[in-house]
Amino acid sequence: MAPAVDDEVAVTRWVRSAGSVTVLTGAGVSTDSGIPDFRGPQGLWTRDPAAQRMFDIRSYVTDPDLRRRSWRTRARHPAWSAPPSAGHHALVELERAGRLRALVTQNIDGLHQRAGSDPARVLELHGTLFRAVCLDCGDLTPMADALTRLAAGEDDPACLRCGGLLKSATVSFGQSLDPAVLRAARQAAAECELFLAVGSSLTVQPAAGLIRVAAAAGARVAIVNAAPTPYDPMADALLRGPVGRVLPALVADLVQGR
Ligand code: NAD
Ligand code: ZN
Repeated sequence: MAPAVDDEVAVTRWVRSAGSVTVLTGAGVSTDSGIPDFRGPQGLWTRDPAAQRMFDIRSYVTDPDLRRRSWRTRARHPAWSAPPSAGHHALVELERAGRLRALVTQNIDGLHQRAGSDPARVLELHGTLFRAVCLDCGDLTPMADALTRLAAGEDDPACLRCGGLLKSATVSFGQSLDPAVLRAARQAAAECELFLAVGSSLTVQPAAGLIRVAAAAGARVAIVNAAPTPYDPMADALLRGPVGRVLPALVADLVQGR
């Protein structure tokens, strides 16, 4: 059966009737918060394809200039002060209504937690900007500490424990995901009645493959994204409207019913 495009009424019904919903979010949930995505029309990489190098682990390790640029970018990242968007708040409502099985996110901006989502239910597949990790000894420290050193004049702060290279605790291309987080995400995809993918181009694996896991386990799949994705043929419904309007509409009944 061909997916029903823009069938918001059907998806609202599914959200209302589903006992458990697993949500996968991408950068498109945070564009309304002022954090650009990578591949959308105003995306970081759409405007400057060379910026992709900043997210490659080999370049980071071998190129000190790129590392210094990465630190400057981290220091002024919009995530430090960005307000959560209507989309983030709608997902908090879904959780308060007792329907959220897990909130799997590819985002590193901490905005789901800032909006009020229970950190225990947020699975950060690609890590977080809020911690720094030593690439040599694995020591994890608050990113704020590294940024304080940056502000004091260090342009490429090294690990205070072993002198190794520090990086944000985010997953760059060439790095693997935390196996425990990935396992929990796959389980949440396999055990939900409705899987909602929101604001993601669904081009990064293994995150995007969670859709297949959910569909294979019998869940309904709905994709909310402005642009087409490679997983559209697998979806039971495709909603093209902006996340900031569609997500609040999907949970409006749940909010009123409380
Ligand atoms: P992406 O840039 O590949 O895709 C974002 C998608 O969202 C695009 O298809 C775009 O058309 C759509 N979109 C943007 N704003 C929207 C809106 N308001 N309504 C509906 N659709 C909207 O992002 P992705 O799929 O998350 O790519 C994965 C990588 O990007 C991840 O590794 C993630 O860590 C990283 N990333 C994260 C952030 C963040 O933490 N906020 C920001 C940029 C990139
Ligand atoms: Zn170290």
